[in-house]
Amino acid sequence: MKKPILTFDNHHHEAHAPTIEQLHGRTVPYFESPSRIDAIRAALQADGLIDLQPTQAEISVDELARTHTRAMIAHMRYLSEKAPELIRQDFASYGLEHLLMGDEYYYEQIFPTRVMRGYSINENRRGFHIFDNTSPVGPGTWPAITHSASVAYAGAHALLDGERRAYALCRPPGHHAGRDFAGGYCFFNNAAIAANALRQRGKIAVLDIDYHHGNGTQAIFWDDPGVLFISIHADPGQEYPYYCGWPDETGGVAAEGLNINYPLPFGTDEALYTQTLARALDDISAYNPAALVVSLGFDTLHDDPMAQFELTISSYARLGGMIDALGLPTLYVQEGGYHVDSLGAMAVSFFGGMD
Ligand SMILES: [Zn+2]
Repeated sequence: MKKPILTFDNHHHEAHAPTIEQLHGRTVPYFESPSRIDAIRAALQADGLIDLQPTQAEISVDELARTHTRAMIAHMRYLSEKAPELIRQDFASYGLEHLLMGDEYYYEQIFPTRVMRGYSINENRRGFHIFDNTSPVGPGTWPAITHSASVAYAGAHALLDGERRAYALCRPPGHHAGRDFAGGYCFFNNAAIAANALRQRGKIAVLDIDYHHGNGTQAIFWDDPGVLFISIHADPGQEYPYYCGWPDETGGVAAEGLNINYPLPFGTDEALYTQTLARALDDISAYNPAALVVSLGFDTLHDDPMAQFELTISSYARLGGMIDALGLPTLYVQEGGYHVDSLGAMAVSFFGGMD
């Protein structure tokens, strides 16, 4: 009988449930749905692999501000509270009130302020803190994202209290969110929040095995000598987020060598993936961290609707076993994974693969 994984979650994420997104100008379904978390929880429960700890305590703004700017945090709250009003203003200006449907999400206007010269930030900072339109904000978004961060924070504290492994069943995910930006379904960077909570123990490693590069986590810890960030992901020359994730991104002046990217081509199978993971685990061992945070994406599966890797359900048992064999205090933070019918089996395989 396997020891169940200590798991933190709550139901506030259900209040954040956009139904559509715009993909290069076309309306497509919103894959990042509440059913993802329900599928994982139910499968782990059915297999007796979960020790569930519902998390009610809400993380403080001061604690969030160790990872995100106060302006960004305030903007997320502002957009969430004002979303219905902002949308109505927009529709009224076009005379299109008849198109309002009652459960709208606000899709921020996107401007590439980080590469512009001479930009100024308006009072409400609109257009500054969200880098793409896959992160719409509605009235339920603020409670969902603060509680998602709270779940990760609670998981970090379980490790500080002596647990060897814990699982933060976070939703929305977080690894595309940087210090002052949201995007890619992500708002607050749950893994980075957990890593910052853990660093009172010493150096921390963050291993990102989501299919997509963890651009937000990379940006947060870019110049931080206390955190090693390693990401295994689809080649950014082919795949989102495109603008970063290459091997020559090795960290800032204060943290040279502490950012390691392992991009892999479309079609990557279990053999190539586990070979790369073994290298990443060697990097982590060499760094000798006090704890490990894993950004756990399940979108490397061959069936995932957003991805082009070829892992199978049983591959995840190998991944879980390899990571766990490091023997480090480890917090697993849920990131992506969009083949809802397989998510439960993947989680069972992953956590069941640990001794
Ligand atoms: Zn992903």
